[in-house]
Amino acid sequence: MSPRAEEPANPPHCCEMMRYYIDHEDRVIYYWARFDEYLVPVHDGGTSGIQMRFCPWCGVRLPISKRDVVLAREEDEARGR
Ligand SMILES: [Zn+2]
Repeated sequence: MSPRAEEPANPPHCCEMMRYYIDHEDRVIYYWARFDEYLVPVHDGGTSGIQMRFCPWCGVRLPISKRDVVLAREEDEARGR
């Protein structure tokens, strides 16, 4: 599954540099909207990445990943709860 496919057209980001690299550079960093995660891609041919906790340009604390919440909710939905 590719994080790119789930990216919204214009998600909010902390600063111009973050916006620039996410919008214009080829996977220098990417934003995975599904989990609200900023990732540094691991160049192993797959789609894995290392989660960033702070913006490398402006230093702001990035959102806490919603991965656990999202996966738990999806699991509940799959069970029909
Ligand atoms: Zn920033």
